[in-house]
Amino acid sequence: MLNKEQFKKKLNSINGRGYKAYKDIAGEYDFGEFILFIDYVQGDPFAAPSRIRLRVEQNKARFPERLFSNKVRRIALEDYITRNVALAIKKYVQGNRGTGKSGLIDIDSCGQQILEKTSIVINKQFVEARLSVGLPARGRQVLSNQAEIMFFEEIPKIVREALYADNINVAAAEKHVLLVEDQEFIRSRLSEKGLVAFIGEGSILPRRSGVSDLPLTGDKVVPFKTPPSLRVSFETPNNGLIYGMGIPEGVTLIVGGGYHGKSTLLRAIEKGIYNHIQGDGREWVITICDAVKIRAEDGRRVEKVNISPFINNLPYGQGTKCFSTENASGSTSQAANIIEALEMKAKLLLLDEDTSATNFMIRDVRMQNLVAKEKEPITPFIDKVRQLYEDYGVSTILVVGGSGDYFDVADTVIMMEEYVPKDVTKEAKEIALTFKNLRKKEGGQGFGSITSRIPLRKSFNPQKGKKIKIDAKGLHSIVFGRSVIDLSAVEQLVHLSQTNAIGYSIYYALKKNYINDNYSIFEIVKNVERDIDQKGLDVISPFYGKHPGNFARPRRFEIAAAINRLRTLEVVVKE
Ligand code: ADP
Ligand code: MG
Repeated sequence: MLNKEQFKKKLNSINGRGYKAYKDIAGEYDFGEFILFIDYVQGDPFAAPSRIRLRVEQNKARFPERLFSNKVRRIALEDYITRNVALAIKKYVQGNRGTGKSGLIDIDSCGQQILEKTSIVINKQFVEARLSVGLPARGRQVLSNQAEIMFFEEIPKIVREALYADNINVAAAEKHVLLVEDQEFIRSRLSEKGLVAFIGEGSILPRRSGVSDLPLTGDKVVPFKTPPSLRVSFETPNNGLIYGMGIPEGVTLIVGGGYHGKSTLLRAIEKGIYNHIQGDGREWVITICDAVKIRAEDGRRVEKVNISPFINNLPYGQGTKCFSTENASGSTSQAANIIEALEMKAKLLLLDEDTSATNFMIRDVRMQNLVAKEKEPITPFIDKVRQLYEDYGVSTILVVGGSGDYFDVADTVIMMEEYVPKDVTKEAKEIALTFKNLRKKEGGQGFGSITSRIPLRKSFNPQKGKKIKIDAKGLHSIVFGRSVIDLSAVEQLVHLSQTNAIGYSIYYALKKNYINDNYSIFEIVKNVERDIDQKGLDVISPFYGKHPGNFARPRRFEIAAAINRLRTLEVVVKE
């Protein structure tokens, strides 16, 4: 391994040459305080930036082992260090040092959630930061002196400030880690208490705007208040007693007038599958990890999904046990979204009337009398929601301000009134008795079977021309070869690096031959998850062992959602 003086020489020897000369600096360099790995060198100043890693051995970095002694703590600490590196970059990096991306130094960003990511790795041996850098040039001419400032001044400052435990606020790091541990603790205790979600007293649920994930501030914010009858508490290991509202398993309605905070509550529950940073307001909003937001998504493609629990007798005798379409309607798309979530063994469905197809949700007694059951392909969700719980143990939380018919099938009814929840289960049940509902149940004997589907390998092609092309284009879109996967209805994604990881998870499943004309979608994704658990998230990268690229861990539901939305997908149905 060359030392830093030798690296400096190498850098200076290419000064003024064409940009391609930078390819010579790929390699490993011992800077004393850290090791610099230059894993990938960009082709020109405008191209995707170069990728480097900065590694500090633990005998110098000295992070206390208790802060990464198990998986949950490790992920939380890696998140903390990532944020710290980002702050140090802001403080010390000038940024613009020539043409295009010249001078850039960057680490994958962190939002309100604490995600498993590839930006930092910490273990007993070392701590390592994975950065993007723009190697500086004027036009296409190497600017060695500018590069020297980046590598010999800016980067060492970042390393000292963020990767040496002696220089960080260990108490703050520990607080961060212990908060995440407690969130995980509550999540792991939900099912033994018969709960699917928990909203801590005083939580701040509303966000600053429709495009911001930051908490709403100001004197109009109403902190969450626990209805006494739904109060539950947890004795957390680090933050003492935390109490709030527990949402029991079964069927739960969120009702209330328009603009009273129903959707805001549901959205917080959707995001409760993630852990949140201190000050987010949703630190104590905790949902079981197998919760899936379901919505209508007209226009989506559906490939051989058994939507027969919800849809039958389509016009022209189109079957629904193995239903395909290039252009689903609101109701068929919502049915497919539910069945696909069930294929992946979802345990909680989250639905909002705002984003549901009305004819999928309800069919009242008058309509039953006008349109005969034989002429209506849709069995509405109201007739299936209990069977889903009774036959498969799948709970549902749904926002319905518009239909009291649902009182008949609910276990729990929560009313939002000026952003304050009330348990109105008793009142709703009394009303259901007083105003007898003459609507007929249309759900049949049971929910119906869930059919596994096996994707065919030939329907996946990550190549565009001769090159592999996999690219997240924004949070909700993946370029996969010649296809574009539209994830705009997949609402629980929170980070671009998750989207990126989904694309590469599919590619990884192809390379490992998990997509083999034999495994179901569930089995494929399970295999990928097992490998990530064993080898770390780096494993899905084609650059395993080097800077893997920016990845954040997606759930199996979102990986499957992408497979299901690939417009070239072909499957066979498992007998
Ligand atoms: P609904 O679904 O009942 O029609 P929303 O959840 O969309 O209502 O909320 C309506 C508005 O109220 C939104 O702008 C939201 O940000 C705001 N809001 C929601 N909850 C609160 C709260 N606890 N405090 C202050 N404003 C809130
Ligand atoms: Mg709403």
